[in-house]
Amino acid sequence: MTDSDLQAICDRWDITFHPDGREAVTNPDPQVFVERSFSAGDEIFMGQYADPERRLLAFFHELGHCVTWMQNEIPVFEACPYYHYPEALAWKRGIELAAEHGVTFTPESLAWARKELTSYFGDGSPEKTPLRFLEAAFRDAGLE
Ligand SMILES: [Zn+2]
Repeated sequence: MTDSDLQAICDRWDITFHPDGREAVTNPDPQVFVERSFSAGDEIFMGQYADPERRLLAFFHELGHCVTWMQNEIPVFEACPYYHYPEALAWKRGIELAAEHGVTFTPESLAWARKELTSYFGDGSPEKTPLRFLEAAFRDAGLE
């Protein structure tokens, strides 16, 4: 898929797409966008990826964030089974949205997604979800 294809998908959802997130922010920290993308409501900021399939998977993950937010699919915080449940949900929804566009991912890319999801869990800080929820998160993300 080209950036024009991704732009067309974003247009359909009325999402602002930044193929290079660095250009959309003032004084970007160059490290922030290495292998990392962001979304905020109805806006997607893509990072830099050596692997184009990871970039595509990251795009659909961010799209998953936007769509779950826009369609009110994220439960209120109190109803989330664990702190980073919306993160798992964005992977699941993103992979579903990709499939709707005929895009599937290699096991290597999905393993990378698992690693990305894992990074939100279990370093012991209060902001982080305890590690015991990780299996549930993989299940909720469709990344078992
Ligand atoms: Zn995310």
